Amino acid sequence: MEYYVEPEKKIPVTDRVDVLVAGGGPAGIGAAVAAARQGCKTMLIEQAGDVGGVATTGMMSHWTGETRGGLYEEILDRSRDDERNGDRQTINPEKLKNVLLEMLEEAGVLVRTYTFASDVVMEGDRIRGVLLESKSGREAVMAGTVIDCTGDGDLAARAGAPFYKGREEDGQMQPMTLMFKVAGVDEKRAIFPGSFETNIPVPDGMVQDLGKANLPSPAGHVLLYRSTIPGVVTVNMTNCTGADGTSAGDLARAHRDCRMQMEAIVAFLRRFVPGYEECYIISSASIIGVRETRHFLGESTIRREDVENAVQHEDWAVKDAHFNFDVHNLTGAGLDATGCQAKFTQKKGYTIPYGCLVPKKVEGLLLAGRDICGTHMAHSSYRVMPICVKLGEAAGNAAAICTREGICPRQVPVKELQQMLGR
Ligand SMILES: Cc1cc2nc3c(=O)[nH]c(=O)nc-3n(C[C@H](O)[C@H](O)[C@H](O)COP(=O)(O)OP(=O)(O)OC[C@H]3O[C@@H](n4cnc5c(N)ncnc54)[C@H](O)[C@@H]3O)c2cc1C
Repeated sequence: MEYYVEPEKKIPVTDRVDVLVAGGGPAGIGAAVAAARQGCKTMLIEQAGDVGGVATTGMMSHWTGETRGGLYEEILDRSRDDERNGDRQTINPEKLKNVLLEMLEEAGVLVRTYTFASDVVMEGDRIRGVLLESKSGREAVMAGTVIDCTGDGDLAARAGAPFYKGREEDGQMQPMTLMFKVAGVDEKRAIFPGSFETNIPVPDGMVQDLGKANLPSPAGHVLLYRSTIPGVVTVNMTNCTGADGTSAGDLARAHRDCRMQMEAIVAFLRRFVPGYEECYIISSASIIGVRETRHFLGESTIRREDVENAVQHEDWAVKDAHFNFDVHNLTGAGLDATGCQAKFTQKKGYTIPYGCLVPKKVEGLLLAGRDICGTHMAHSSYRVMPICVKLGEAAGNAAAICTREGICPRQVPVKELQQMLGR
C-alpha cells in the first residue's frame, strides 16, 4: 500500500462541551435529549441533513416491538399521525424529522448536522474530544464524555476499543436494505405481509413463495407496510448480502445494487400482489439501511439467553425491552435459519446491563444503539429502534452523572442511574 504522510497542522478547538453525542439516530436522539435535560452542555453531531437516522433518512416503516416507557413513548406521542388510524408506531418520516429537531432544541442541544465525526482526541486511553469534518473544514470539539451513537461505533473503533464484526463464528453481517415507498395502492384490496413468515394466498400462489421465485436474488421476500398516507406503502424488499457497512466501497455498491432492484420489485408487485396493480415509486431513502457491523467488547455482554429468558439483571440500564430474534438471511432472502419471529414466545421484556454500554479499554466513552456490547443473536433483537432510544436515554443520563460527579462511565453508580431513569 502506498501512503501519503499528512503534514502536521493546527486544528481549531471550536467548542468545549460536557457531553458530545456522535450520530443522530434513535440512540443519539435519546442520548442527547437526556443529557441536555440533565443540564449538561450537549452537542449532537450528525453527518446527514436531518436527524433520526434509519428512522427518518432511512425511511423506516414503523417502530417495532412492545417496548414501553421513557423518551421512546414521548417521541411516539409527539410524532403520531392523528389524521390516520391513530397508530402510534407507524412513522411519518417528515413529521418525525421535525419533532426530533424540536425535542433537541427544547432541551438546548447544540445540533450540528452536515458534520462527520471523523476521529478522536486521546490522552492515553482517555478520550478527550472528537475531530469533525464539514464544509467548514476540520475542527476539534473537546468533551467530558463522548457517546458513540454512530451505529457502527466509528469513534469507539478510532479510540482503540476492541470489537469484532458480525456473527461470532464467521464475521458475516446481516444484509442491507434501501427502503422505498410506492403510491397508487388500492388499500381495500391490498395485502400487507409484515414478516417473512406471513405467507398470504394470492391468485398465483403464496406471496412469499412467489417472491422467492420471481424477484432478483438476493431480493426475494415480500415485506409491505401501511404508511401514514392513504395509498402509499413502505417497501422493505431490496436486499444486499455480503457487504460491510464500515467500508465506503461496500456502502456505495450496496446502495447501487438495492436501487437497481427497485424496478423489478415494482414489476413483481404489479404482476402478483392484489391492490398493487397500479403502484409506482414515489420516494426512496437517502441512506442505505445497515443492520449490523461492529460488536464492541464491554464490561458486560448481552446474549441470546438474556433475551430468550427475559433475564432481569440487577444492574440494568434498559428495562422492558421486547422484541424477537430478527436475523435476516445472511446469504439470501427471507429469515435466517437462526431467526425466530412468529415462534418467539417470550412475552416479558428483558433488561440490558449498564456494562453493555461501557467499552473495554477506553475511558470517557459510552456506546448506545446497535453498537453496544452484545452477541450477534442478542443484537438481532436489541437493534430495533425503540430499544435503541432507551439505550441512548440511559447513556445520556449516565454521562450526566459523569459530568456532575467528575467520574468516568466505568465508575457510574448504577443505582443512581436507575433512579434517574425512574423505572
Ligand atoms: C433496512 C432496515 C429495516 C429496519 N426495520 C426496522 C423496523 O421496522 N422497526 C424498528 O424498530 N427497527 C428497524 N430496524 C432497525 C433500526 O432501524 C436500527 O437498528 C436503529 O435505527 C439503530 O439505531 P442507532 O441510533 O444505533 O443507529 P442509526 O439509526 O443507524 O443512526 C446512526 C446515525 O449516525 C449517523 N452517523 C453515522 N456515522 C457517523 C459519523 N461518523 N459522524 C456523524 N454521523 C454519523 C448516521 O447518519 C445516522 O443518522 C431496521 C434497520 C434496517 C437497516
